[in-house]
Amino acid sequence: MITDAYRKTSTVGIFLALLVVLGLYQFAHAQAVSAPGKLSVHWEELTAADFREGIRRSQGTCLLPFGILEKHGPHLPLGTDLLDVRYAALHAAEQEYAVVFPEYYFGQIAEARHEPGTMAYSRGMQLALLQETTDEMGRNGCKKVLIVNGHGGNNSLLPYFAQTQLDKPHDYVVYVFDEHTPSSGGPAKKSPGPDWHAGETETSNMMVSHPDLVHLDRAASESGADQARQKLPEDIYTGIWWYTRFPFHYSGDGSAATKELGEYQMKWWIDAVVKAIRTVKADDVSLKLQNEFYEKSAHPLDTQP
Ligand SMILES: [Zn+2]
Repeated sequence: MITDAYRKTSTVGIFLALLVVLGLYQFAHAQAVSAPGKLSVHWEELTAADFREGIRRSQGTCLLPFGILEKHGPHLPLGTDLLDVRYAALHAAEQEYAVVFPEYYFGQIAEARHEPGTMAYSRGMQLALLQETTDEMGRNGCKKVLIVNGHGGNNSLLPYFAQTQLDKPHDYVVYVFDEHTPSSGGPAKKSPGPDWHAGETETSNMMVSHPDLVHLDRAASESGADQARQKLPEDIYTGIWWYTRFPFHYSGDGSAATKELGEYQMKWWIDAVVKAIRTVKADDVSLKLQNEFYEKSAHPLDTQP
């Protein structure tokens, strides 16, 4: 009896000791992770433990804001698209939590190779680097990679990249969001169109995201007018089209920019990205059907009509 009682006591003792150790471990673990609400949205600012918590909190949704380095008229910085898309994406992720990948600007910009400061990676490199980047994001738990595009020259590259994700199985989905300007509303624009590059729209945005980088006094020192040098119908496409119309990488009139227009547009852009994050988080169809597709495509002869 004495032995039995002793055994019971020592079993309870070991059990209690285990509970204490477990409790201490959980306490230590909790201490290693930032308090709720304090978690940075910047991938590069998170500790390894915080990154794990970020992936959990974002439900595996990560943003890849995609910019470029190219001339933006005589008055805006080379990184205009990168700076603006990050401003929109980071503010959106703070409202609807997502982990935001660091600076990424390895896109399509061959048409600006004649201007100083352009970084134009080759076609193969653009696709390979983007694939390795999203693969690595996926391996780290980003099962939903939302590419937020800030550069017009990427607008053929990105849908093509997304289409080629069906080449071989991936355990994550690539989503592309490519809207940055409201089509209506807000303060009336002063300059006539087209206003596609470093003009009233983009200059106004930069006056909000990085006002210290806008040299408004230089905005009229070059022409942003359409040179209209190519005589082809609209349904025939050439890669030189942009150079024929806007060889100075300036389209529109930056001197017409206002902070009010920038505030309206930037708020619209941030809200649009918030909506896109929520939509992607709620999407439980794409990955499921993508997996089904990969499985069926391994044996197409068995596929039923
Ligand atoms: Zn731009």
